[in-house]
Order: sequence, then structure tokens, then C-alpha cells
Amino acid sequence: MDLKLYNTLTRKTEIFEPLQKGRVGMYSCGPTVYSHPHIGNFRSFLVADLLKRFFEFKGFKVTHIMNITDVGHLVDDADEGADKLEETARKQKKDPLEIAKFYTDSFLQASKLLNIKPPDKYPKATEHIKEMIDMVKILIDKGYAYVVENNVYYDVTKFANYGQLSGNTLNDLNAGARIEINQEKKNPQDFALWKHDPKHLQQWDSPWGKGFPGWHIECSAMSSKYLGAEFDIHTGGEDNIFPHHECEIAQSEAASGKKFVHYWLHTRFLLFDGEKMSKSKGNLYTIPELIEKGFRKNAIRYALISSHYRQNYNFTFDGLKAAAQAIDKIQQCVLRLTDLGKTGKQGEIREQLQDLAANCLTEFDAALSDDLNISKALAVCFDFIRQVNKTDDMNSTEAAALLDTINKIDSVLGVLEADDNEVPANIIELAEKRKAAKLNKDWKAADAVRAEILAQGWIVEDIPGGGYRIKRGENA
Ligand code: AMP
Ligand code: ZN
Repeated sequence: MDLKLYNTLTRKTEIFEPLQKGRVGMYSCGPTVYSHPHIGNFRSFLVADLLKRFFEFKGFKVTHIMNITDVGHLVDDADEGADKLEETARKQKKDPLEIAKFYTDSFLQASKLLNIKPPDKYPKATEHIKEMIDMVKILIDKGYAYVVENNVYYDVTKFANYGQLSGNTLNDLNAGARIEINQEKKNPQDFALWKHDPKHLQQWDSPWGKGFPGWHIECSAMSSKYLGAEFDIHTGGEDNIFPHHECEIAQSEAASGKKFVHYWLHTRFLLFDGEKMSKSKGNLYTIPELIEKGFRKNAIRYALISSHYRQNYNFTFDGLKAAAQAIDKIQQCVLRLTDLGKTGKQGEIREQLQDLAANCLTEFDAALSDDLNISKALAVCFDFIRQVNKTDDMNSTEAAALLDTINKIDSVLGVLEADDNEVPANIIELAEKRKAAKLNKDWKAADAVRAEILAQGWIVEDIPGGGYRIKRGENA
């Protein structure tokens, strides 16, 4: 089944055609590591993870790169103001690399909590200065960039397609530009590739003297190093479209003479109280904060992926609670099927159940193939679970086949793997003890064990065929 994605570049939903059959090269703009990443950042990262998992579900081999910006991202997303990371370093009186390491670790830990599949590489900007300098040299040689004093700027008037991604034109941009304070630039929209600033804490030698790279050149240099000058898909949040991605295109295409990226996918903002969640506004929640409030990490993941990436997602605590309930439904079905898989008799799979499983996977695929229609995909999943729950006297082969279907779905959703509340071994042991007591018709002992399980926050329920399922009690 063809995968259709909305391409910001063409403003059309297009069939995804990879450059190389069966393979996908994907680059995602990663975090600027100057503070703890918030759930808005993670909405963008999770959309990339969902897409990558779905590519894999469809049989593609994905090479995924996500950068770590540890230098050069200035407070103004263009190229004015202080370096975000250095600002934090100065405030905390620490070395910028120490700050970067601390927040990179925070990002990696939260990514793990959210069951994000690690990309093939997380390249750091500070470890790719040479590649950036090489690209800047090419841009100067080809006449796209110019040197003033010890700074290097990209001349946007030299790149005919500047504005293609964002829909901006140079005329409009110039009309809206602030009075240019930087007299060095030939045009107000020219952006810095290399900056000279003796006050900057991080400095590298370059043909233009000591300095540091601009933010945009980082992603051009690192993506081409790991994915080649031309690759399939680039993701980011909607605020990355301009200037960051517009500038990446200008740099990369001018340097290589090739088309840079075939599909651009941008995630709309996560909002809180109707406003963009952002570090600068301070209206944010981090993953550890939500976990501390008692929310389950897989519920956070579920909530953040459960609405369409091209619509804003309004974050609420009720949304997190609903996500936890939705996961419980899946989890209970899994527990029942697992139990039936162990206790049920062996046998053939009824045709009707075979069809149920096959149709579920086809419809799930169709939903996500339609520009990642996650609401439809989740509806398919819960419809399947409803049907499974209605099916009595299943044999173990049938239970295993239906369980396999849920696992295939979860290879994309990733919410079961992320469950931190798997039934603990001692609870399963108690449930087995209760089952044995029931088999011996020792009802008193069975009830006592049930009470013990409940006291530990779990509920054991009998299911047809002599099995049981365990679910989380209110306090687990
Ligand atoms: P930053 O760490 O600021 O470089 O941002 C990392 C990623 O998070 C970028 O792709 C941003 O576009 C994205 N992002 C930032 N805020 C939000 C938000 N509220 N909702 C969704 N994505 C966001
Ligand atoms: Zn980037």
C-alpha cells in the first residue's frame, strides 16, 4: 500500500517514493541542549519516531539521524542575540560543554522513558565543525557566500529558490524586516554561516579566524555526512520551517547542486492553555515532571502521538488520564490473550478470526498510510480489541495469532513496550496460587490470595475457560 505524506515543500499530499527502493534516509532536527526538553519538543520527536516505526512496519530499512545542537542556536532563531546554550552556561557559571552534556543526558533519558527508538546516530554539532567549515568554503567558492571581517554570510539573493519551503518571498521578508542593525550584510535576509565574536565561549579556528558556526549550517553539514547530499525525508516542528529549514535548503542545494530533501514533514505545536509550549514562555512540562505527578510514561507517549501531527495538540491532564485508560484496554486484551495462549487447547485458527486479524492490519496500514491518520489507526485497533473481547472459547493458536496482531500494531504505537507497570512477578505468582486453590476448590484460600493481590494494587479477574487476567487497581 502506498504511503501518502503531506509535503511542506509542495504543499501537497504525495505518494512517498524513496530514492532507493526499500530504504529511507531520514533526518530530524533534534534538541538544542540548553534546558530540559519539554513535552512540546517531544511531540515533534515522537512524530518522527512514529513515522520511522511505520516505515519499518511497511518493510522499509530506515537510516535515521537526529542532531544535537550544542552550539550556535541563537536566541533569535535567525542569527541575532545570544547563543542559547552559552546564556545558560553563563547563568549557571558552567562550561558550555558541561551544560550541553547535562541536558543531552536529560533528553536521552526522557527519550528512553518515552520508548523512542534511538536513531542510528545522534551527531553533535561541536563534533562536526570541520564538516561545517568545508561546506562554508564550498559556498564561498561557488559565490553563494561572502566574508566580511571575520564573519561569513550566505547571500540569499544568489539562491533562486529561497522562500520555496516557507512560501516567503524576499520582497515580503525585506518589507517586514526590522531596521537592519547589522551593516555587514549585503541583504537583510542574509544569514550567518560563521560568526566571529570574541566574547563567545566556544571558539574554533577557521580560515576566517576564530569563531563558531551558524545554527543552520550544522544540519546541512551533518545530514549530508550521514545521509548524503540528497535524501528522502526531513522532519521538525513547524517553527523550523523558517528560517531554519529554508536556510538548510539554500545551503545544501547550493553546495551540492542536487535536490536536498524530497519530503518535508512538520509537526504543529503542542499547546498548553491555548499557547505554544516553549522554553522561552516557561509554560512547560517535562517528562520527569509528569511522571512525578503520577502519570505513566506510556500514557504520556500515547497522548502525544494520538492526535494528527498537522493539527495542534492541546495538552491537558484529562488527556493523559484518557490515554492511560486506552492503554489499559489494550493491556487487558493482551493479558487475556497471553493467558489463553498458555492455557487454551491447541487447534486450528477459525477463518473468521484469521480474517479479523488480517483486516485489522490492512486497515491499520491504510489509516497510517493516509498521511499518518492516527485517529483512524487507533479506532481500527480498538475495534479489533472489541471484537477479540467478544470472542469466547479461543484455542491457544487463535489467541497467539490475535496477540501477534496487537504486537504488530504496537511495533508502531510503542505503548506496550513502554509500559512501566507490567504485572510484577510476585503478583503473577499470587495469581497462579489462587488458580491452584480454585482448582482444589479451596475457595477460602483463593479469596484470601485475591485480597492479597488487591492489597498490592492489582485486580485479578476470572475469564471463561478457567483462566484469569490481571489489571491495575486504582492505586497501582
Ligand atoms: P529546540 O530544542 O528548541 O531546538 O526544539 C527541538 C524541536 O522541538 C524542534 O523541532 C522544534 O520545532 C520542536 N518544538 C518546540 N516547541 C514545540 C511545541 N510546542 N510543539 C511541538 N514541537 C515543538
Ligand atoms: Zn536542524
